[in-house]
Amino acid sequence: MDDYNFEDFTETHYRDLLRLAKKKYSFIDYSRVESLEKDRFILWRHDVDFSVNRALALAKIEKKEGISAIYFLRLSSDFYNIFELRLKKKLETIFYLGHRFGLHFDVDSHSIHSETELIEYLSMEKKILESLLNTEITVFSFHNPTPEILTNDQFRYAGMINTYARYFREDVGYCSDSNGYWRNRRLWDVLEKAKEDRLQVLTHPVWWQETVMSPKERVWRCIDGRAQRGKELYLERLERFGRKNIHRNKGN
Ligand SMILES: [Zn+2]
Repeated sequence: MDDYNFEDFTETHYRDLLRLAKKKYSFIDYSRVESLEKDRFILWRHDVDFSVNRALALAKIEKKEGISAIYFLRLSSDFYNIFELRLKKKLETIFYLGHRFGLHFDVDSHSIHSETELIEYLSMEKKILESLLNTEITVFSFHNPTPEILTNDQFRYAGMINTYARYFREDVGYCSDSNGYWRNRRLWDVLEKAKEDRLQVLTHPVWWQETVMSPKERVWRCIDGRAQRGKELYLERLERFGRKNIHRNKGN
């Protein structure tokens, strides 16, 4: 258990990481990267793969620490749907807390065989996200970036900054919590040493919970929570219309 630093992935430790990051770096928006190319900065990004609920929990902690982050959202996630009214309201809250949104783009959810097609689908998703959230989307990140996907390394596509552009990969340090453990470097050590002048930190909200849990427990919690909520919504609807929830055995 110790090898995977489960204890790192709590809300309390997350707050401590933010406090440490604030001491060592100045937080900037992706839009300022070009003008501050050689300055010392940190980019604080979240790819939302599983849970908008968890995204909101982190957004509140960041707000308390006076930090503005960027949440990259998927249009074709198997685990959440940003068109659901209750999630849309949570996204609005994240925005009003001072955070911004980017597009988390899954190449595999489209049939893409060329750069032209990549740009077409990026533009399509950008427009949908912009009209849904009523805000401009100027940055995107690839979901599950394979070496092949990463050959698309221009700074911008479809009018959006590419978080995996050559510039970020060559001139900006990187630390990610992918899969719920530190596969490469532990974020606390990276921030404490602060060796790199420029740093991009990627966290996925699902990995940060109130209590210490294994990566599997953290994902299962999100999946089970969503399923439970679905059942509750169904029961609410039955009640509203005075219908019964008929089951094989009486009383269940
Ligand atoms: Zn992703």
